[in-house]
Amino acid sequence: MNMQTLEQIAACVSGYDPNALPVEKAQEFIGRLVPKIGTVESVALRSSLGRVLAHDIVSPIDVPSHDNSAMDGYALRGSELAADGETVLTIAGTGLAGQAFDAAVPPAHCVRIMTGAVMPAGLDTVVPQEFTKTAGDMLRIPAGAVRTGDNRRLAGEDLARGCAALRAGRLLRPADLGLLASLGRAEVPVFRKLRVAFFSTGDELRSIGEPLDAGCVYDSNRYTIWAMLQRLGCEVIDLGVVRDEPAALRAAFSEAAASADAVITSGGVSVGEADHTKQIMAELGEVLFWRIAMRPGRPMAIGRIGEAILFGLPGNPVAVMVTFYAFVRDALRAMSGAAVEPLALLRAACTTPLRKKPGRTEYQRAIVGRSAEGRWQVAITGSQGSGILSSMSAANGMVLLHHEQGDVAVGDEVEVIPFDGLV
Ligand code: AMP
Ligand code: MG
Repeated sequence: MNMQTLEQIAACVSGYDPNALPVEKAQEFIGRLVPKIGTVESVALRSSLGRVLAHDIVSPIDVPSHDNSAMDGYALRGSELAADGETVLTIAGTGLAGQAFDAAVPPAHCVRIMTGAVMPAGLDTVVPQEFTKTAGDMLRIPAGAVRTGDNRRLAGEDLARGCAALRAGRLLRPADLGLLASLGRAEVPVFRKLRVAFFSTGDELRSIGEPLDAGCVYDSNRYTIWAMLQRLGCEVIDLGVVRDEPAALRAAFSEAAASADAVITSGGVSVGEADHTKQIMAELGEVLFWRIAMRPGRPMAIGRIGEAILFGLPGNPVAVMVTFYAFVRDALRAMSGAAVEPLALLRAACTTPLRKKPGRTEYQRAIVGRSAEGRWQVAITGSQGSGILSSMSAANGMVLLHHEQGDVAVGDEVEVIPFDGLV
């Protein structure tokens, strides 16, 4: 476990300034802070979807195990194809998928073969049946229909015995499940799921089902945070809304830190906060209060309470989501043992002019789509206030405006973080 103090970590991050921290510096700090949870468990193949592979998987077999046909057609010797002009061969028999055609194939003969059938000994080429003509047991192949080696899959061409088929740290996706199945694996070693406890702070918050008193709002962060954690495959411990009382906050932080690898709170971390959240965080843990050079989402607390990593996110509903995606997502992935890959971003022409001050990173809610000419373009979803959750809901992505970037003119290309990808 990484047990550097927060000051030691800060000393490693060049240009660290807690009062105007660039997003990349905050990400670097968090990357150094979070430990990896190393506990391994074995799960059934289907249950490994979305989990993190704990060990390299070495292929115990060649996949495919034999040379086989990639087409329905006729297997032959490439050396017997006529140099120019038609080739005529005699059909010796049929090879079916999963079976070997055992008999020796005499010269000038071929074997009718199905996709996936083992290549008969000595034959190295398959001509697809649609290129051929037959008359009785005679096969006619027009000139140039195939070359030697065509339509033959080699043993081990997908995975060779002894090769690392998958590396530890891989977040297992559908293709990986299929690949593991092709090796005959029923059980997969994965890191245990990360346990994440979270709660909302703020005396103006009401839970669903309670009357909405004057001046109050329903606690929406509880649901967005829950949903984002579900998508990351975490085990969640939902502690609801915690009242702004030192004893209640102390109890909630203690319970959360004792039962989880990470604790996420929302609200109560901005500079002018009148409530007790920051005070109790500082009392119970080792915590830094940052002002990040970003919009939305400036204030954030980061640190440890006991052995749990604390992410004290801002309260505004959009700021919560943006800081979660900017900082918490990769941090939780890293903690769960995953090799963190950079997000694949889309480049799109902006259809709205954007005001942007250099010196902070901005995430603007946007709708990305194709123009009539088929080019990617992106439009901002109106009001970008950090409390306007409806414009986050209306968006299908966020325009990422980098730290140094200035204003964007109509037609300028910008980077977009799409919300959905293949899953
Ligand atoms: P804070 O960061 O605590 O100053 O909160 C900033 C704004 O976000 C305030 O308007 C809060 O009412 C609002 N807010 C804080 N937490 C939540 C929550 N869990 N659900 C909805 N709004 C919230
Ligand atoms: Mg508050």
